[in-house]
Amino acid sequence: MRRLLLGQGASRGIAVGRVRIRQPHALAVSEQRIDLDEVPAELTRLHRALDSARAELHGLRERLHGALAHEVGEFVDLHAMILDDPDLRHGLEDLVGTGLYSADYALKLQRDKLASVFAAMDDDYFRSRLEDLDHVVGRVHAALQRRDDDAAHGLAGAILVCHNVAPSELPELQAHGVIGIVCAAGSPLSHSAILARSLRLPLVVGAAELLAVADDGDALALDGGSGELVLDPDDDDLRDFRALANELEQEAIRLSRLIRQPTRTRDGSDIRLQANAESLLDVSEARQVGADGIGLYRTEFLFLQRNEPPGEDEQYQLYRELLGRMDGKPVTLRALDLGSDKTDQCGIALRDEDNPALGVRGLRLLLAHEAIFMTQLRAMLRAAADGHLRILLPMVSSREELIAAHALLQRARDELEAEDMAVAAHVDLGAMIEVPAAALALPQLADLVDFVSVGTNDLVQYLLAADRGHEGLGDLYSPLHPAVVRLLHQLFAYCGRRKLPISVCGEMAGDPSNVPLLLALGLTDFSLAPEILLAMRERIRACDRAALRKRAPLLLRARDRSQIQRWLLEHTP
Ligand code: PEP
Ligand code: MG
Repeated sequence: MRRLLLGQGASRGIAVGRVRIRQPHALAVSEQRIDLDEVPAELTRLHRALDSARAELHGLRERLHGALAHEVGEFVDLHAMILDDPDLRHGLEDLVGTGLYSADYALKLQRDKLASVFAAMDDDYFRSRLEDLDHVVGRVHAALQRRDDDAAHGLAGAILVCHNVAPSELPELQAHGVIGIVCAAGSPLSHSAILARSLRLPLVVGAAELLAVADDGDALALDGGSGELVLDPDDDDLRDFRALANELEQEAIRLSRLIRQPTRTRDGSDIRLQANAESLLDVSEARQVGADGIGLYRTEFLFLQRNEPPGEDEQYQLYRELLGRMDGKPVTLRALDLGSDKTDQCGIALRDEDNPALGVRGLRLLLAHEAIFMTQLRAMLRAAADGHLRILLPMVSSREELIAAHALLQRARDELEAEDMAVAAHVDLGAMIEVPAAALALPQLADLVDFVSVGTNDLVQYLLAADRGHEGLGDLYSPLHPAVVRLLHQLFAYCGRRKLPISVCGEMAGDPSNVPLLLALGLTDFSLAPEILLAMRERIRACDRAALRKRAPLLLRARDRSQIQRWLLEHTP
């Protein structure tokens, strides 16, 4: 029956397809017994499901090309290995053949048994394999649920409806042919949402109701921009969604006329628009839309879908390729920022911290894994010999951390020079300003950095004590809180006086509606997702910077979010 639902738009784009439900990892299978004479048929069902899961993995492996083949390939191979593990297979056959359990319940029992073995291991690496086990079990379970004649249940052309997705799963899902995702939990600021935008995969988050009412195979239309969902759409809906998709195309054509135009305000101030990137594809798009450089390259996405961290040479080749694609424009590589909601398969990030966002993440994690940090620094320094590369440190919270990072950078340089490797004479080192302590004590850190980049996604979460990935916090997480506005103003003013280059690379700087506010506060350097760059350029070109600067005092006096929103409305061109 047709039903209209609303989530939060997290990655723009229209998708119309069949629902594929993925229940949370814990398999919700109740105990089911079978009779002795049902055993052969149940074993056949089990074997078919195992074969089908294996064929899916094999098909996925075949379809992977280029960078994805490498990044996702290892992940797929590992899952194939788990699937073929005799313990899993024989355990399941025993439970069905001797225990007289249904194949579905046997899968749950066997999963729980293996999971308890993994969980009891001391080693983080083995504990992290639990997630992989759950992926494999989920795949077999989905195959068990599928009816033979129901081809629509494949992932190709499907819209995945699930509780949440991890950033590491997204490339695989897309490679499987998933055309859109709806999550019950999550937020547009999560790393999954950022990666979905980078992959141009439409995503709606915070749509818990859909997971409760939709069934596998239902038709669904989604708008990843507005968050609108129509279950079982009728002809009128389908026409509306087609019109929306058409509008998006027309908008892209209109904006493409700005590709060769300067990013200059109406009153003649030049503004820098750099791009955030998670992949080579983003970097190519950044170049194509005329970005002034890469303001933030999130190198962690290189580490997410693999079992071994990439070596120095592999990283060096990638960084050189990025520099080559930007043709002399600066490329800012952020050192590995794992931890919190970005956990890797290599076992670098801790898995079971009680408060991961406040735990060992970003630079803290790098300093605790010196060898991994050194490998990355060496690769960066080598690549810097061939282009304008800048290094950005994530989650800086103290002077001591910066001093430790400098020492490692110097050590990497000394090592390379001793090995007669070409290294750039100087590489700019910058700090992400994401922790309120670093923002407030910037004058105490400034002599240790060549530039800073404000990560408002995290800065807002830490300043307002509001989890950026929490679907239930609503406006409590808002970059328009007076505390955020005042702190940004303070940062821009300080950096202006000290001539310390400052940019903003959080999602706040990629929302055209925030342009008047950020210009008024004094920002001239933005870094944002390439797909929004032309829309930002259009908005900036409509603004009068000098007039907005004069109106900043009103903003700073605002007492609550609604006054700031009103200011924005009044100053939107
Ligand atoms: C930020 O925190 O604003 C930022 C750009 O970093 P990330 O979103 O990767 O945490
Ligand atoms: Mg951050």
